[in-house]
Amino acid sequence: MLYPEPIERLIERLSKLPGIGKKSATRLAFFLLNARQTYVTELSRSIAEVKEKVRLCGTCFNITDIDPCPICRDERRSRDTLCVVEEPSHLMVIESAFPGVYRYHILHGVINPIEGIGPDEIRIPEMRERIAREGIKELIIATNPTIEGNTTAHYIVEMVREFQVSITRIASGIPIGGDIVYIDPLTIKSALDNRRSLKEGS
Ligand SMILES: [Zn+2]
Repeated sequence: MLYPEPIERLIERLSKLPGIGKKSATRLAFFLLNARQTYVTELSRSIAEVKEKVRLCGTCFNITDIDPCPICRDERRSRDTLCVVEEPSHLMVIESAFPGVYRYHILHGVINPIEGIGPDEIRIPEMRERIAREGIKELIIATNPTIEGNTTAHYIVEMVREFQVSITRIASGIPIGGDIVYIDPLTIKSALDNRRSLKEGS
């Protein structure tokens, strides 16, 4: 053993964090060793608090410390539209572009047969219940444009066929400020398939 046992143990635990290898974990451990006591106490309290207080909203399955979450409580948001996303972090991205507009439903994953994730392993049954209960009129499916994201979108279309609900899918194509030269053929295909009219011919 290279370092005193408490340090070794901390390095071991820190190296389990995503993107943190042994080297970064060692650097973090020594940073903490030399940090102010108040900072270290606050940090460990925050870590514990996250597990104690943060849970999923019983309606939209966003992460929250109050249930229903502030987004579901917000009366100004559209009542009959649901924006369906894969993860809470995806909600945050849409919310930063359109603050206060949509209600959401977070699936917590996508259908992935290879990994054994079926529709009942993600929050699709709950979404279906919501459509019926809340009288949702439009679904915006904002899953990623991956094979799994597209499969999930198509499955949702089948799943809600019986309801009077219109379904749109976010477009995929060339990013703003992008260059066609560097875009892969599938994205080009999607961009052309989803092209928009600038002017109607007469
Ligand atoms: Zn909610």
